Order: sequence, then C-alpha cells, then structure tokens
Amino acid sequence: MNVPFLDLSKPEAPWLQRLDEAAVKVIHSGRYLHGAQTDRLEQRLKGLFSTQEAVGVSNGLDAIRLIIASYLHMGRLHEGDEVAVPANTYIASVLPITEFNLKPLFIDVETSGYNMNLELLEKKITSKTKAVMLVHLYGTPVWDARLMHSMRDKGILIIEDNAQAIGAHAPTPGFNGATATGGLGDASALSFYPTKNIGALGDAGAVATSDKELAATVRTLANYGSDRRYHNITEGYNCRIDELQAAFLNVKLDYLNDILESRARTARIYCGNIDNPAVTTPVYMTDRRQVWHQYVIRTDRRDELKAFLAQKGIGTDIHYPCPPYAQPCYRGVFKTDCKVADRLSGEILSLPIAAVDEEAALYVCETINSFR
Ligand SMILES: *Cc1c(COP(=O)(O)O)cnc(C)c1O
Repeated sequence: MNVPFLDLSKPEAPWLQRLDEAAVKVIHSGRYLHGAQTDRLEQRLKGLFSTQEAVGVSNGLDAIRLIIASYLHMGRLHEGDEVAVPANTYIASVLPITEFNLKPLFIDVETSGYNMNLELLEKKITSKTKAVMLVHLYGTPVWDARLMHSMRDKGILIIEDNAQAIGAHAPTPGFNGATATGGLGDASALSFYPTKNIGALGDAGAVATSDKELAATVRTLANYGSDRRYHNITEGYNCRIDELQAAFLNVKLDYLNDILESRARTARIYCGNIDNPAVTTPVYMTDRRQVWHQYVIRTDRRDELKAFLAQKGIGTDIHYPCPPYAQPCYRGVFKTDCKVADRLSGEILSLPIAAVDEEAALYVCETINSFR
C-alpha cells in the first residue's frame, strides 16, 4: 500500500466543483481586492473566534508581523522588549520578533501536548517581558485562563499564533469568555497556507482581535499605511488578501467540521492501534478540542523508523528538525537552555493525517507495530 504524507489534490476533491464556480464568479466580478468575498471571510472568522474584528491579510507570517508592527505603532510594544515564544515553534513565530528588534525569550516545551511549558513561562518572564506568543502547535490548544489573566494584569500582551489550530478549543475560556483558539488572547494570527487545516490555493492569512484600535492599525499598515485613499498616515506595507483566495476559503470553511472530524478519526485510529514499545503516541486530550494539524509520534530511533516506513510506502515528515534558535540565520545569536525542545527535534515524526482512510490508517499502525 502507498500512503503519501500529504497529497493536496486528494483532500480538495469533494469541493473542487465549488472552487471552480467560486473562481469563475470572482474572475467575472471585476473586483479582485477588498470586495465581497473578503468581507464575508472576515465576518465568518469573527464568528468562529468570537472576536469583534477580523482582518484578511496576505499570509500567516504577515499576520504576525502586522500584529507586532501595530503594537509598536500604538506604543504597546517598544524596541528591546522581550516576547516569550515556545522553543519548538516554526520560525515564522520568531522572525517578526527579531525583525522589529524585539527579543525572543525562548521557553522550553512539555511533552504531553508539545506546547510551551506554562509553569516554566511563569518562572522565566522578567520585567522586560511585554508579550507572550502562544503557539497552538500541531493543533493542540495551549491556554491557562488563570495564568493568562495574571500576565494580562502585569501588562503583558497575549498573542496567539493560531496558524495550526483553526477550529480548536481551549480547556478554559479566553479573555472574551469563549474557548475557540484564535479568540483567547489579545490578538491572533491565522494562516491559510495550502497545507494548513483550512488552506487557500496559494497564500492567505488573517488577524483576529477584539481590540478595535489594533484591528484598525492592522488594516492601515496592511494597505500602505493609508487610512483612506492616497492618504498615508504611516509607512505601511502591502499585505492584502485577494478576493480569489477569500472566495476559495469561503467555500472550504463550509467543510471545516468535516475536515477536522476526518483528521480526528485518523488520530483516534492511530492512538488506539499504535502499540510498539519504541514509539510514544501523542495524548488525545479530552478536556480540549485538538484539531490534529499534525499527528506527531516520537522515538529515539526516529531516522531508522522514518526510513523503514518509507520502504513500506508510508510518507512521513518532521515538524521541525531544528528549533528556530539553532537555524543558521540565528546561529550564535541567542543563549538558550531548552533541553526538551532540543531532544524532541531528534525524536519527533509526523504521520499522514489529511484525508487518510481507515484502511490506510490501520496499515500505518500495523507497519509501525512491526518495526523492531
Ligand atoms: C504556517 C505557520 C506560520 C506562517 O504561515 P504562512 O501563511 O506560511 O506565512 C506561522 N506559524 C506557524 C506555527 C505555522 O505553522
């Protein structure tokens, strides 16, 4: 049997015809930016995250950049401030921190959800820590209402990198009273990169927040710093979402629950059937809704297992083989002591999770169980 890690054409099959129709409609509309599709997408995202505002933007990295640039512009962050960030995240969570001359404070992670260790966060923050970037990695929510309220009381901004967790729910309510990730903290960034749980057919992203001033600043900065046409109140960027991508996303959001349920079904098969003493499976949590952007196992014989599975026709991937602070672009820049993240990067392995049918999932389990 052949189980590719991810074949993007397969999961798109059920709604291909609607994508075709949506594209034709936009092509003939004569409106390619800032139109009805973007408005509709923003309305739907507000509903999904229970936020007052949502702003469609060019991609997930730009969503994070715009949040940070806006907080700088608003005087809520200043150059040199520290931003706590999990040690095992994708580099996109870190690049906007260093780009704007803020300092990442790397917090080591825990092994039940592979997320930021919140007890450690509480110990590691200093008087210079002005924001925390929570990353719901692999689709597992990280949130502790008591701790986040106490951070907020200290004037620390809580930013969520929700790129991997659209549709996830935390175990306790966020600042707005609801539990959807992306609406928990002060502001959140969303990515619609094609491999994400809801992917565009190209790049797209969004910022969600209930802070009207932040949302207005993001909109302004994303559109050349102009509050109205040919009136630039600040030096901005071009980080707009286009109507075509918004139209595709409006189709795919109709299938959000189907997509998440299909991933959860596969995760349950893996959790219930992988049984090999050399392999640790992720925790299927009952107190929160995980959305299984990745299903990540770990083993100290990772490279061997990866090669074994490849030989049996099973594709895998590694998220991520190197922590951001150890990437060549940052070599020698940070002093870190993140032993868990360092160790995990050599042990983790992502199994196929998108549009995997039961037969294929069981074959993956059997094959892992036969690994000696
Ligand atoms: C994908 C991703 C991003 C960036 O999103 P893009 O749309 O690719 O720019 C940021 N953070 C995390 C955790 C991601 O997985």
